[in-house]
Amino acid sequence: MMNIMLFGAPGAGKGTQAKPIMERYGIPQISTGDILRAAIKAETAMGMEAKKYMDEGKLVPDSTIIGIIKDRLTMEDCKTGFILDGFPRTIAQAEALEVIMKEIGIKLDKVISLNVPDNAIVARITGRQGCPSCGASFHKIFNKPKVDGVCDLCGHGLITRKDDTEETVKVRLESYHNQTAPLFDFYKKRNILVEVDGMKELSEVTSEIFKILG
Ligand code: AMP
Repeated sequence: MMNIMLFGAPGAGKGTQAKPIMERYGIPQISTGDILRAAIKAETAMGMEAKKYMDEGKLVPDSTIIGIIKDRLTMEDCKTGFILDGFPRTIAQAEALEVIMKEIGIKLDKVISLNVPDNAIVARITGRQGCPSCGASFHKIFNKPKVDGVCDLCGHGLITRKDDTEETVKVRLESYHNQTAPLFDFYKKRNILVEVDGMKELSEVTSEIFKILG
């Protein structure tokens, strides 16, 4: 049983690092961003409402996100643990998470903070490419796929997220500093926060995380 959260600015490597953790420990990645993008694709009412915020780089309202997480954490595959990626993003979400987990009878074991300075974020985000089929992530400069525009793992064509533009990144960084960064102290006080240098090579970051998780 291992309940962990990946914490960090947009582009810090949360989604990328979630994949090897998922494989090694056999626990699911829970990305609220992925869940919202799936809802947009399915054109659900919730997806359409969330899209307005996401396209602008703003945070989706807490009530929507908390509802999503409540449904997801009570699913069968979370019984052996999970990796939270991109949630919580506000103190209100973190507090709601504590209530939900208390109800289920579980707690957060570790919060891994992937530290990346602001001046590296724009370059990291604007070159991102993801696989819409298997979820693998790549980068045009820092993590190139073997064949340009094609997923190494499943051969599907790669896509660039609509909100990965320089303009939107600025708003996302602002939301991060104003609303999400306070969670650092929130989890530090609970003695579960561990910091990792997110500027190291991708595989080195993974090994450090494995060392922390044991
Ligand atoms: P991500 O894939 O984590 O970068 O999330 C993409 C976008 O989805 C964010 O810019 C927000 O608009 C929205 N989003 C994802 N997770 C959350 C969350 N926990 N709280 C509020 N908005 C979120």
